[in-house]
Amino acid sequence: MERGADSSEYDLIVIGGGSGGLACSKEAAKYGKKVAVLDFVSPSPQGSVWGLGGTCVNVGCIPKKLMHQAALLRESLKDAKHFGWNVPDNINFSWETLVTAVQNHVRSLNWGHRIQLHDKKVEYVNAKGSFLDSHTIKAVLKNGTEQMAQLATDYMESHGTRIIKQCVPVRIDKADDGLLHVTWKDSVTGESRKEPFETVLFAIGRDPETSQMNLEKAGVQLDQQTKKIIANDKEQTSVPHIFAIGDVVQDRPELTPVAIRAGKLLADRLFGGSDVTMDYDKVATTVFTPLEFGTVGMSEEKAIERYGEDNIEVYHAFYKPLEFTVPERKVEQCYIKAVCLREGDQQVLGLHFLGPSAGEVIQGFSAAMRCGLSYHSLSSTVGIHPTCAEEVVKMHITKRSGDDPTVTGC
Ligand SMILES: Cc1cc2nc3c(=O)[nH]c(=O)nc-3n(C[C@H](O)[C@H](O)[C@H](O)COP(=O)(O)OP(=O)(O)OC[C@H]3O[C@@H](n4cnc5c(N)ncnc54)[C@H](O)[C@@H]3O)c2cc1C
Repeated sequence: MERGADSSEYDLIVIGGGSGGLACSKEAAKYGKKVAVLDFVSPSPQGSVWGLGGTCVNVGCIPKKLMHQAALLRESLKDAKHFGWNVPDNINFSWETLVTAVQNHVRSLNWGHRIQLHDKKVEYVNAKGSFLDSHTIKAVLKNGTEQMAQLATDYMESHGTRIIKQCVPVRIDKADDGLLHVTWKDSVTGESRKEPFETVLFAIGRDPETSQMNLEKAGVQLDQQTKKIIANDKEQTSVPHIFAIGDVVQDRPELTPVAIRAGKLLADRLFGGSDVTMDYDKVATTVFTPLEFGTVGMSEEKAIERYGEDNIEVYHAFYKPLEFTVPERKVEQCYIKAVCLREGDQQVLGLHFLGPSAGEVIQGFSAAMRCGLSYHSLSSTVGIHPTCAEEVVKMHITKRSGDDPTVTGC
């Protein structure tokens, strides 16, 4: 690696100190290898930068989940009245307090990651990495040298979120009143509309930062459309000694635990004599919408595409979480679906859960699915009462039957 006038040699150089890079570098160091991590955050259009840990810690999972929790607390405050708590109507919310608390937590995690690298003797370089050739990396230092989705959005709409569908924003103007005047085009009718808003947040996905890495000098192939790195099932790129893990790789689930596991397994294969590869199938995840959506395995649509409609059995249920009853919350969207093969014991191909604590529920079922869960074993499991998770093992109405899947009674 070249750093200004200095150059050093390493067994492994990891570009990117995010979930995948940190896991891979720490694991490799365990094998006594000389390892360096380059991590550099290019400023956002507003000039924001952040510390070591990548997307998850700084601008992804962690701040997102803490803010999700803050929003859930508002719902709980409303519920609390129905449970007898005398909660005043005019409760104030301080955005500054929330942001400060979240940022303090994120900084503590940034610091924790630096300490961990130091303790594990991984060299951390706050620099942007790019290839000089396929064996030399230049470090430029900081100083510049499904149905389910519909139900989730229905729930948000019923709680006051206005969702303007099939529209593309084309222009944002900051007016004298300080408001942001957004113009958007309806992709169906072609009409334009304009409205003022206090805040505009773009959540439109992310592009990989591969353009400035001179990957072509190293001979690493990218997908022409997405500009993501193409890697095989051993995370090997088109250059055999250059590997890629995490969000930057084409056709991988963009998730922190996926990047971590792939990084660890890669280090074990490179330096520990292992031949275990990452299994990207049946990876569970949760969308932290106000009504959470947990999912693992195939969607109903995908299963039908692969096996044909006649070979798929879908069990489903609309259910009412007990804690929603007293505050009289609407529950039309609390829904579960198991997508199964129709033959034999009916292997479960996909499990989808809309409701409270969906991540907590679906995690355990994803372990069962890795063990080959069938509808037969699912339905012969005794539930824990009263929970939302028990509704999963109680499902018995098939979509094919056309019967009402609303759960009534215990
Ligand atoms: C808003 C949001 C919410 C999310 N929520 C969740 C969630 O709840 N659960 C979940 O599992 N996943 C979630 N994710 C996805 C998760 O954050 C990513 O899958 C994960 O961070 C991928 O890890 P990674 O190591 O591939 O990349 P990253 O964590 O993005 O790390 C890459 C690092 O490399 C640096 N870098 C890039 N180019 C260079 C270079 N040339 N030289 C040096 N450094 C460089 C970057 O600045 C960054 O620090 C979320 C993502 C977002 C954006």
